[in-house]
Amino acid sequence: MTASTSRFFRATVTAVTDLTPSFRRFTFGGPDLADYGDPGFDQRIKIVFPSGEAGLDAMPTGDDWYLEWRALPEQSRPAFRTYTTRAVRNDAREVDVDMVAHDVIGPASAWIDRAMVGDEVLIFAPTRAHTGVSYGIDFVPPAATDHILLAGDETAAPAVAVILEQLPESASGVVVLELPHPEDAAYLPHHPGFRYHVGARPAGRRHAHLVPEAIDTAALLAPAGRGAEVEEVDIDEGILWEVPRTAKGGAALKSAPLYAWLAGESAAIKTLRRALVTDHGVDRRAVAFMGYWREGRAEN
Ligand SMILES: Cc1cc2nc3c(=O)[nH]c(=O)nc-3n(C[C@H](O)[C@H](O)[C@H](O)COP(=O)(O)OP(=O)(O)OC[C@H]3O[C@@H](n4cnc5c(N)ncnc54)[C@H](O)[C@@H]3O)c2cc1C
Repeated sequence: MTASTSRFFRATVTAVTDLTPSFRRFTFGGPDLADYGDPGFDQRIKIVFPSGEAGLDAMPTGDDWYLEWRALPEQSRPAFRTYTTRAVRNDAREVDVDMVAHDVIGPASAWIDRAMVGDEVLIFAPTRAHTGVSYGIDFVPPAATDHILLAGDETAAPAVAVILEQLPESASGVVVLELPHPEDAAYLPHHPGFRYHVGARPAGRRHAHLVPEAIDTAALLAPAGRGAEVEEVDIDEGILWEVPRTAKGGAALKSAPLYAWLAGESAAIKTLRRALVTDHGVDRRAVAFMGYWREGRAEN
């Protein structure tokens, strides 16, 4: 996303819909949303959540918003977190964002827990003027990809849902997702070319129990290659994020037997990436991995 083609949109909750035990859909409306851009796939956005100490009007919204936000005293900074655009209906001036209702331990989860029709947020997203490559999209498969692996946890499910809806029927692959509740599987749209390994996380278990499933899947879909050593990322200090692209933003490879898109809790994704790239030998230029959140650490 670049500053010139992305901006803050003021949006009001017009509906709150519980889709499954863990997924809550927030439909936002407002005249401003006629201009909300929809580049597709896993387009990430920032949502600013107001609190008693820091209302939406305290949020800097100009081109240098981030620097100005950093310069504010900590207690007067409105909190923002990263989400995924689930659907855009410009004619109706509506946008859907699906949020996981997890334990109330941060500003987003607190908002998700009590938000009602009429509540307002700011959403930083592309405008309709946006054209070409969006750097807010991390699903960048090679043009000729035999199979796609979409793996992660519940925070990745909204992005996986859009990707499945937007891929052509001829696409083929596997979804490996770890979700909090058995009934959450109903959240995912059906794609005729995909197999689904969707499992509920056993109570009390940490993330990543589906890692072996994802590795077995990769082993079936792609021939084992020459394992490559991956650099160690300190997930408690740095950000676990790598999206293989060319300098112009396109896919790093022209073709691949397998393209893997991995997103979720950083430790789980780190384990998965190592297993795919180092142990199984999947070409690292065909593996996008994103730490969407880190257990025990707030986003900012
Ligand atoms: C590109 C991207 C796209 C995303 N898209 C979505 C999306 O569409 N829907 C969605 O629901 N989430 C999505 N997320 C994840 C979301 O941004 C985080 O879950 C966010 O940290 C929640 O904010 P919070 O204020 O509740 O918690 P924070 O203040 O950030 O963290 C407080 C505590 O909560 C823990 N925590 C954070 N998230 C979770 C979780 N999901 N489950 C359990 N504990 C958690 C942290 O480890 C920390 O200990 C996305 C993240 C990224 C980077």
